[in-house]
Amino acid sequence: MEQVKCLIIGSGPAGYTAAIYAARADLKPVMYEGMEPGGQLTTTTEVDNFPGYPEGVEGPKMMEDMKKQASRFGSDIRWGMVAEVDTSRRPFKVIIDDGYELLAETVIVATGATAKYLGLESEERFKGGGVSACATCDGFFYKGRDVAVVGGGDTAAEEATYLANLCRKVYLIHRRDKLRASKAMQKRVFNTPNIELLWNHEVKEIVGVEQGFTKALNGAILFNNKTGEEKKIDIEGFFVAIGHKPNTDIFKDKLEMDETGYLITRPDSTATSIEGIFAAGDVQDKHFRQAVTAAGTGCMAAIEAERFLGEQL
Ligand code: NDP
Repeated sequence: MEQVKCLIIGSGPAGYTAAIYAARADLKPVMYEGMEPGGQLTTTTEVDNFPGYPEGVEGPKMMEDMKKQASRFGSDIRWGMVAEVDTSRRPFKVIIDDGYELLAETVIVATGATAKYLGLESEERFKGGGVSACATCDGFFYKGRDVAVVGGGDTAAEEATYLANLCRKVYLIHRRDKLRASKAMQKRVFNTPNIELLWNHEVKEIVGVEQGFTKALNGAILFNNKTGEEKKIDIEGFFVAIGHKPNTDIFKDKLEMDETGYLITRPDSTATSIEGIFAAGDVQDKHFRQAVTAAGTGCMAAIEAERFLGEQL
């Protein structure tokens, strides 16, 4: 059976950065790209906040660049999904979804998280054309415009206050009459004059103009779930902030997670609850979720994997 020193699961900024560092440390990393090669950034347009791209870069292009850089040092990047990891003994036996099996001396889990969407057909159509799940990534495009955020947790509150600094008006659409966000975040929302809270409202449809590949969102149709009343708000950006789901299903009951499924790592480290398994990027970070922070923890994971292997000699 093939035995690899370092297996990387996932191909976002965390996975590719881990691959660059692990390859340069001669760990000959093998990466399985997963369901969405390139990760969440392949679903965004312009990335303006990753250092080193003074003119900005398209998300998919940035991921292509990271892949090229990882390949340049000999990372073995493979198409496929990891279906199972036996964490009970080292080297870890790993099964790929096509049935292929291998042994891994260390594993870096960089499977990311998936933003939850409302599930509306119109929302799907306007993704990349006004619908976004990341205010820090896309808020800039709506400077001086009116936008909406849907959700009532800390992410929605944070995104609404972030956008309120850039935009003329921010509607915060929440399905209940109380925010789930922390009291401190609630206070910030209530004290921001250009945020209008729409309590007990749900989204029925996103509307806009579509011409070929060009899409321009111009509103959302909402309904009040207490009165049944419908209304249209005029907005150009629609930010979904109803939570993320970390991609950790295959590690359930195997690696320590918090109650929402995020992997728990040791402080100042990427070490998980199993020696030799490290976690990097959004799969262990529900607070920052930035490409650059994911890349940072990817680097840490590769360095820690190398040190771990060194200690085993
Ligand atoms: P949460 O699960 O906390 O909140 C999700 C929000 O979206 C809830 O208000 C929920 O409504 C609403 N929602 C869920 N599904 C739907 C739906 N289908 N339609 C409409 N609304 C929906 O997710 P967050 O991403 O906000 O936070 C996740 C975790 O990360 C939390 O523990 C949070 O505290 C933490 N976090 C901390 C931050 C910080 O400390 N700076 C920043 C961001 C997140 P309802 O309330 O009715 O259930």
